[in-house]
Amino acid sequence: SIRSSSSISRALLARSFVMREFCAQRKESKLEGKVALITGAARGIGKETATKFITNGAKVVIADIRRDVGQETARQLGANASFVACDVSQESDVSNAVDYTVSTHGQLDIMYNNAGIACRTPPSVVDLDLAAFDKVVSINVRGAVAGIKHASRVMIPRQAGCILCTASVTGMMGGLAQHTYSITKSSVIGMVKSVAAELCKHGIRVNCISPFAIPTAFALEEMQDYFPGLDAGALADMVHNAGVLKGANCEPSDVANAALYLASDDAKYISGHNLVVDGGFTSIKSLNFAGT
Ligand code: NAD
Repeated sequence: SIRSSSSISRALLARSFVMREFCAQRKESKLEGKVALITGAARGIGKETATKFITNGAKVVIADIRRDVGQETARQLGANASFVACDVSQESDVSNAVDYTVSTHGQLDIMYNNAGIACRTPPSVVDLDLAAFDKVVSINVRGAVAGIKHASRVMIPRQAGCILCTASVTGMMGGLAQHTYSITKSSVIGMVKSVAAELCKHGIRVNCISPFAIPTAFALEEMQDYFPGLDAGALADMVHNAGVLKGANCEPSDVANAALYLASDDAKYISGHNLVVDGGFTSIKSLNFAGT
């Protein structure tokens, strides 16, 4: 009858909807059953990555020096997110964050050393403020080393794991940022290669991501020093206009996608790599003839 054929087609439609949803979810779930610890994930790139990891089935511990913002971020991200207060320049905080992750979730699969600060002192090397240098190194370099050290402590016994760090294009080229910041980021690229060489024999992959400038609070606060009259929107436009890839801007989601790839089994044979997310910026030096 007409009635039963319409109820059959309704049932078929419903089934195809369920299948589509199921497939969409499966496609998204690249980190099912994985546990990640991300430093500096209260906001910015780290928060975006935490969100992406959770969407892909991971449980994420957010470790950040900003307690209130970090707790609020964990609340927003739901039951698969939690927060642990952590100043990465303090080794005991980093060690505690790793132990908290293992005691809460039973394992640590992905350690993402993402916390970092900019350097806002006079730019010439002649004026280099070595006290500021030590402070930035203690977070951007020492903090990442501490993260690698303590993640290795729990990953080596399991003979598996993935370690990520956020480096930067400023660690690959001179002239893009203050010396202090550039030096810390080139150190991150070097540390990843050094440590990957040891940890490969334990089945642990170590990689970093070098993003181009992204107008997060981090970048905007620094730019305000140079352009105090401009508002956040104008500063963000300036950052985006400095990119070279036509039709796209560098965004936190571009780094989160790179991190998802490196953390997932799609990158199971990738280690000691610096994944540059810069739209080609570090590859080009265009000849700027007048009138072209
Ligand atoms: P952000 O300031 O939005 O986020 C950084 C987070 O790190 C913040 O939540 C902050 O509270 C946290 N943090 C700072 N010091 C800490 C400490 N001692 N211990 C623990 N957490 C600490 O900046 P972002 O743009 O998301 O930067 C994230 C990473 O990306 C940094 O390592 C940065 O150097 C790097 N990076 C940023 C850009 C950019 O243009 N935004 C480009 C390349 C690389």
